[in-house]
Amino acid sequence: MPIRHVTPEDALTRMRAGALLIDVRGDHERALGMADGARGIDREALESDPGALLPDLDAEILLLCQRGQRSQQCALVLETRGYGNIASVVGGTEAWDAAGLPMQRADIDADFGERYSRHLRLPEVGLAGQKRLQATRMLLVGAGGLGSPAALYLAAAGVGTMRIVDDDVVDLSNLQRQILHTNARIGMPKVDSAAIAISALNPRTAIEAVNERITADNVERILDGMDVVIDGGDNFPVRYLLNDACVKLRKPLVYGAVHRFEGQISVFDAGRQRGVAPCYRCLFPEPPPPEAAPNCSEAGVLGVLPGVIGMLQATEAIKLVLGIGEPLRGRLLQFDALAMRFRETRLAADPACPVCAPDCTLLGYVDYAAFCAGA
Ligand SMILES: [Zn+2]
Repeated sequence: MPIRHVTPEDALTRMRAGALLIDVRGDHERALGMADGARGIDREALESDPGALLPDLDAEILLLCQRGQRSQQCALVLETRGYGNIASVVGGTEAWDAAGLPMQRADIDADFGERYSRHLRLPEVGLAGQKRLQATRMLLVGAGGLGSPAALYLAAAGVGTMRIVDDDVVDLSNLQRQILHTNARIGMPKVDSAAIAISALNPRTAIEAVNERITADNVERILDGMDVVIDGGDNFPVRYLLNDACVKLRKPLVYGAVHRFEGQISVFDAGRQRGVAPCYRCLFPEPPPPEAAPNCSEAGVLGVLPGVIGMLQATEAIKLVLGIGEPLRGRLLQFDALAMRFRETRLAADPACPVCAPDCTLLGYVDYAAFCAGA
């Protein structure tokens, strides 16, 4: 028997006369708005055990989805399960809304709904996840090669607040990879140039530009209130300092580094998972001798390489905020651009780590410049 169809107007009249209007879309879709008076039941849940959710086989049931396809398929399934008075609403919630019928709407503005629509369609992000991104405060240390793609993608994704720390100015030799900056902004502080680029992309992201070098004296002030820390720096003293501060202050650190044609990334979460997740010092207890670890200005770097690594860092940062997927915690991902290969190494927490071992308390920050100079 063909499924009966009703118009949204008819559905409203019948619902007011006692029919059940069921919105069979997913939670993340209903969160954005649904027909007023409809009851939300996931299609999968309904089809797997309709008797538990709708015990009366003779009740008049009207099914509603986004555009009318899923509700029709669901109606067919329910009919085979013995429901005798079932109909699908033609055109779904979109037609209901277009007809001006009463809606329960999410408390978001039109810009938010449209800008993040592709996130809102993902059940793993959805309205709840997007609001979490909006409420997130991320620290980006370095507005350079790694920081550029990370900042742009994190702002585009809807991170609400980004504190960007860098004490450098834009130089012509930066523009080969540091895509936050432009020719016209050479000589400008990088944090100001970054703020211009980010605001142009997403004015919803609040930028806190900190034109300072991060040091043992200011690191705790700079990390204060931040949910996730992204290391986009290019030097060992800052890397060790950030690691130690993140362990002490219990903040996740998204690490990235590049060298010529190779890069690596990991998530160090020892601050929140002492003795379980490793920190940077578990991996590299001692910095390499300075002559073995030249920075980009000395060794050169393929311009796209920090783009790849910085975007992987942004991906991990977003996953940490949303609590989805498998974070790169306890894993080091290495990338070789010439071979175009990724290699993954498992990392364990070092029970003798001087910073993150469970029984260890960080008393203070060392002189990181001297530490890394081998002094
Ligand atoms: Zn450690």
